[in-house]
Amino acid sequence: MEKIDLKNLSLHELENLLFSFGKERYRTLQILRWLYQKGIQNIDQMTNLSKNLREELSRRAFISRLSLLQSEESKDGTKKFLFQLQDGGRIESVLIPDKKRLTLCISTQVGCAMGCRFCLTGKMGFKRDLTLSEILNQILGVKETLSSEESITNIVLMGMGEPLANYQNTIKAIELMTHPEALNFSYRRVTLSTVGLLPELEKLAKEKIRFRLAISLNASDEKTRDHLMPINRRYPLREILRVCRNFPLHRRDRITFEYVLIEGENDSVREAKKLVKLLKGIPSKVNLIPLNEAPEIPYKRPSEEKVRRFQEILMEGGLTAIVRKSKGADISAACGQLQGKERGERFDRILEIL
Ligand code: SAH
Ligand code: SF4
Repeated sequence: MEKIDLKNLSLHELENLLFSFGKERYRTLQILRWLYQKGIQNIDQMTNLSKNLREELSRRAFISRLSLLQSEESKDGTKKFLFQLQDGGRIESVLIPDKKRLTLCISTQVGCAMGCRFCLTGKMGFKRDLTLSEILNQILGVKETLSSEESITNIVLMGMGEPLANYQNTIKAIELMTHPEALNFSYRRVTLSTVGLLPELEKLAKEKIRFRLAISLNASDEKTRDHLMPINRRYPLREILRVCRNFPLHRRDRITFEYVLIEGENDSVREAKKLVKLLKGIPSKVNLIPLNEAPEIPYKRPSEEKVRRFQEILMEGGLTAIVRKSKGADISAACGQLQGKERGERFDRILEIL
C-alpha cells in the first residue's frame, strides 16, 4: 500500500485517518502542531504521541518536503525560491519584505491554463495542479531558511497558476494556513488572487473558511478584457462583478481588484472613469500594477505620469487606489513572470505587494 503524505490530508481527512486507528480526535491537533508549527521531518519526532501510535503512523504515512533548488536575493531584499517537485516539475515562491511585513507569494499550479496575454506564466501553458502538500510545503520550505528574528506575516496565492482552477487543494490549504494549531495566520493575512472563475467563485462565497479575496480585473470593459484575458469570453466581467457585489464580507473587509496597467490597452482616462462606475457599491480597494515588461510580451508599461493620472481619477471617484511598487525585478521575481526556470534561463517576474 502506498504511504500517505500527511500534509496531503485536510483537517478532516487527518481526523479520519486517526479515527481509523481508533485514536481520539485531539491527537489531530497534536499532529498539526508538529507538522506545521515545528516543521518536523520525521514521524518519530512526534514525542507526545505514544511509541505505538508513532509506529503505526510511520507504517501508513510519511512527512514530505520540497527540495530547494535555488534561492536568489534581489537588491531590494526580495527573495525568490525555486523548488523542485517529485516529478521534476519546478515552481517558484517569492518572499517580499516591506516595512514590518514579510509576504510570501506562493504557487498553486505548475504553469497556468488561462493564457492571459501579458503574463509569462500564461505563456508557458498548463502543466499540472499542485497537491495540497506542495502548496503548503512552499511555506514550510521558506520558513526553514529564515533566521529566528524573521517570520512570514502574510501569504498571497499569487504565484504561478490560477488558484480556483485547483479549487479543492486551494481551499484545504487555506484552511490549514489559518487554523490556529496549524500555520495560524489571521485570515486577513491570507489573500487568494483569481481571474474570477465563476462557478468556483460562487462556490467560494459559500465556504466556511475565511481569507481575503483579490480579483484580477485588468480591464473595465468586456472587449478589452476578452482580448487581454481570454477566460473573460467564458466568464465575463459583469458576471464576476455581480458575484463580487453579493460576496459575503465581514465588517471592514474589502475585495481587492488588481489592474495591470498596459500602455494603450487599458490605461486611458476614459477607462479609469469606467472603472469607477463599475466598482460603485462594492467595498473595494484597487491595486494598480504597472506592467512588468518581458521580451515575450507584446506590451509596454505606461509612463509614470499616466499611471499617476489613472490613480488620481480612481481616487477622485472615491475609490482607494494604490500603485504597487515593482520588487525583485533584478532577479525576475515580479508579478506575471514566474516560469520555474533556473538562473541563466529566463526569470522574469516582478513582485508587488498587496
Ligand atoms: N492567476 C491568478 C494569480 C496569479 S497572477 C490571477 O491572475 O489573479 C498574479 C497577478 O499578477 C495578477 O493580478 C496578474 O494580473 C498579475 N500579472 C500577470 N502578469 C503581469 C505582468 N506582466 N506585469 C504585472 N502584473 C502581472
Ligand atoms: Fe494565469 Fe494569473 Fe498569469 Fe492569467 S495572470 S495567465 S490567470 S497566472
